[in-house]
Amino acid sequence: MPVIYNRITLIGLGLIASSMYWSIKRKKLANEVVGYARTHKTREIARKIGLCDRVCETATDAVDGADLVVLCVPVRAMGEVAKTISPALKSYATVSDVGSVKRYVIEQVSEHLPPHVDFVPAHPIAGTEQSGPTSGFAELFENRWCMIVPVEPKNENAIDRLQSFWEAMGSKTVLMNPDHHDLVLAVTSHAPHLIAYTMVGVADDMRRVTDEEVINYSAAGFRDFTRIAASDPIMWRDIFLTNKDATLEILGRFTEELFALQRAIRIGDGNQIQEYLTRTRSIRRGIIEAGQDTSAPNFGRERGSS
Ligand code: NAP
Repeated sequence: MPVIYNRITLIGLGLIASSMYWSIKRKKLANEVVGYARTHKTREIARKIGLCDRVCETATDAVDGADLVVLCVPVRAMGEVAKTISPALKSYATVSDVGSVKRYVIEQVSEHLPPHVDFVPAHPIAGTEQSGPTSGFAELFENRWCMIVPVEPKNENAIDRLQSFWEAMGSKTVLMNPDHHDLVLAVTSHAPHLIAYTMVGVADDMRRVTDEEVINYSAAGFRDFTRIAASDPIMWRDIFLTNKDATLEILGRFTEELFALQRAIRIGDGNQIQEYLTRTRSIRRGIIEAGQDTSAPNFGRERGSS
């Protein structure tokens, strides 16, 4: 693969940044990758495991001379980071981010960036419930979508280059408007996470079912919720607070449908329940056909683990 940027700086060295680093290196997409993380502990781990060619002690040192700077910190930390690095950014550099919410990040970051840089927000739809500098892996973005969310003033060259970069890391890319992005993600990710957190919380609150029973007899449905509910609390707190309107809109609709199903169960309306479950089952088939998950039973986990 050809080098796409001479120097890339990753600010924040968690799951997404570390996966980007391993992918950039494997595909040789940059001559140098520089990293910065807020805590000494994370910077030391990064140095120890060889995450980034260079790890700097300050964010301003890290962005010095960078052609692409990617903000890989929680959504509500993006604005502060942008403010800090702004005076040190090179002219014609591209600044991007990987935040899970776009309208809020655009508002917070844009106001700090100087006019001589191009801001091209992005969001890779790829992740796991793991976090931190040791959780990344080069294949994370393979065959996953990355949404590129251009903002005014648009620089088509900067957008095309960032798109080529994500495609070189194995992603499929699509251009999207920030509000549409936030609504789509509220449906596909933010509301489902909140529901999973709630379901696990309910099990925890139920004193009639002991902790041991919840753990020992955990059936596949509940276990899948616990995997989602193990996601990083800071990251998800920030997502719920910053994609408030879309998340509340989807939760409102969810509650209505839940009440309808609750009623169908109470009055014994089997047809309604069966029709609903048949419709939702076809969505799973669509996801598999689109190559976004495995068709193997139990998500491809080893036999006997269910
Ligand atoms: P992560 O593994 O938890 O890493 C977060 C990084 O941000 C760490 O290096 C942390 O530094 C730094 N950080 C935390 N709070 C900060 C603050 N207040 N100021 C400056 N730096 C701070 O997170 P991640 O999963 O890579 O997520 C990073 C971004 O990607 C988030 O915006 C998230 O919404 C987005 N995203 C996540 C996923 C996913 O599934 N995980 C998927 C797509 C997009 P220290 O380690 O030094 O504390």
